[in-house]
Amino acid sequence: NIVIGCCVAILIAAGVGYYLARRSLVPIQQAWQAQQQFVADASHELRTPLAVIQTRTELLLRNPKQTIEEKSPDISTIYRETRRLSKLVSSLLTLARSDSNQLELNRDVFDFDQLVHEVADHFKELAELNQHQFHVDISGPLTLNGDRERLHQLLVILLDNAFKYTPPSGTITLTCRKKGNEIYLQVADTGMGISKEDLPRIFDRFFRGDQARTRSDGGTGLGLSIAKWIVEKHGGKISVQSKPGKGSTFTVRF
Ligand code: ADP
Repeated sequence: NIVIGCCVAILIAAGVGYYLARRSLVPIQQAWQAQQQFVADASHELRTPLAVIQTRTELLLRNPKQTIEEKSPDISTIYRETRRLSKLVSSLLTLARSDSNQLELNRDVFDFDQLVHEVADHFKELAELNQHQFHVDISGPLTLNGDRERLHQLLVILLDNAFKYTPPSGTITLTCRKKGNEIYLQVADTGMGISKEDLPRIFDRFFRGDQARTRSDGGTGLGLSIAKWIVEKHGGKISVQSKPGKGSTFTVRF
């Protein structure tokens, strides 16, 4: 009986040990799978602009007697795809570094409202060019301890999307003010909006809505995942409300 009791105890201990070991491996396996998926998605995204650049360059080389004017459409495409590639690589680098905790914030105390004014001024020019209505409502002073460069990037991502996904004559409203202890930043547009199905996925890496995919000024699907990382790294929260055909509102609270 003692021998049988010991065997049963050993078997139970081995089973529990095996179960615990497997369970502790689950997060590592998940992280590994996520990393594999990231590499696969990144390679896929890099392949498209590279293929276009290669084909257009081959066309140029095949017709050496063509004038620059005749070559101009191909050169423009190569230029556009090179820019896209460069944006993609820098976004990938940001996310890869943030994953491996190599990316720390370069914090400083600065006037956040001044930064928002600076970025807004740049977009005012774009608004005039595209015939968008652009309303800016910033009330300072708003002192923030944060990474100026990253917060600049955050503002550009949100405003860039608002302009990109809003047809001409639509309205974009940028609001920035203090609410209680928080800094409240909002970018609202009257653009195409986001469907209910897409809404939970827009902060995912490489996610692009169907309508966004068909646009010629193809984005990377990485902007909002970087925006979310920047906000959360500053201890803030980002949220979105949207109605298809009516517009979207992105709200950040620090
Ligand atoms: P990208 O704009 O490069 O596609 P993002 O990560 O910035 O990538 O955005 C992910 C997706 O969220 C977009 O493809 C688009 O479908 C949707 N989206 C983001 N901002 C807006 C907006 N202001 N209006 C409508 N859709 C938006």
